[in-house]
Amino acid sequence: MAEVWTIGRILKWTEQFFAQKGIESPRLDAEVLLGHLLKKERIYLYVHFDEPLEKDELAAFHKMIKQRVSRVPVAYITGEKEFMGLPFKVTPATLVPRPDTEILVQAAIDALRNMHPEEGERLTFADIGTGSGAICLSILHELPEARACTVDISEEARAVAEENAGSLGVQDRVEFFTGDLLAPLAGRTFDAILSNPPYIPTADLAGLQEDVQKYEPRSALDGGTDGLDFYRRLTEEAPALLKRGGFLAVEVGIHQAEEVSALFMVHPDIQSTEIVKDLAGIPRVVMAYKEGYCG
Ligand code: SAM
Ligand code: GLN
Repeated sequence: MAEVWTIGRILKWTEQFFAQKGIESPRLDAEVLLGHLLKKERIYLYVHFDEPLEKDELAAFHKMIKQRVSRVPVAYITGEKEFMGLPFKVTPATLVPRPDTEILVQAAIDALRNMHPEEGERLTFADIGTGSGAICLSILHELPEARACTVDISEEARAVAEENAGSLGVQDRVEFFTGDLLAPLAGRTFDAILSNPPYIPTADLAGLQEDVQKYEPRSALDGGTDGLDFYRRLTEEAPALLKRGGFLAVEVGIHQAEEVSALFMVHPDIQSTEIVKDLAGIPRVVMAYKEGYCG
């Protein structure tokens, strides 16, 4: 009799196959995909190693394996990614939210918590280039008093972000705009403006990991010749949309923090900047404070 494909056996086989094909985290990817297929937590797989898979489950899993070895990111296969402990829907129109971006979110939450809006006013912030909505929606989830506006150039990304707002239950506190950077927000002001803009220098795109290069939207990654195009525009235009005492916070790529900080300091309304590092000591975020900020 042919050997039965149990959870344990298929995981082991897939791990080896992924490793052979050069997938970076073969075991984790196999577990996330199988967990998603069976609608179970990863821990379930470990306590049910001997459970056999149904024929249709096996067929569906083979499809997933094929996609993964052609380098489709796991999150595009499952259609979801966890960020700040929350589930986000993602599609090929949205960048897959990165753990690095949680540094920006945490820094923004800390700074927003320090601000005390005037009587009758609400804390408001904008998220520019929102993609799946990861930054904006996780902050709204954490700060129940806050309100936000998001902008993305991609109509498809906007639809995904709106869906995520609904499933996270924060849809009443967020407005979605489609357009170019700050243009749709003209005439409004905010306590904070946040962004994880595209920041990869154009020439470096070809050297990115195949998963990213082949499947993630180029318009979410390409930051122009030196990677700083979006920061030039944001540092020039965003301070005018900040309330007195407000702040800007942007994620930055490798070796960009000092230059981005200098760009912010050129603006006459910016009184100071700060570079926030991750636990490994890598600069990840630049904060810029408008006159009157008391942190
Ligand atoms: N905020 C999400 C995150 O951190 O996971 C996505 C960030 S992704 C690096 C940059 C986003 O900016 C993409 O969703 C892209 O569509 C959007 N974008 C690119 N050019 C833009 C523009 N000119 N105006 C507004 N959004 C833009
Ligand atoms: N962190 C992403 C990457 O390394 C880039 C995101 C961005 O350009 N903001 O692929």
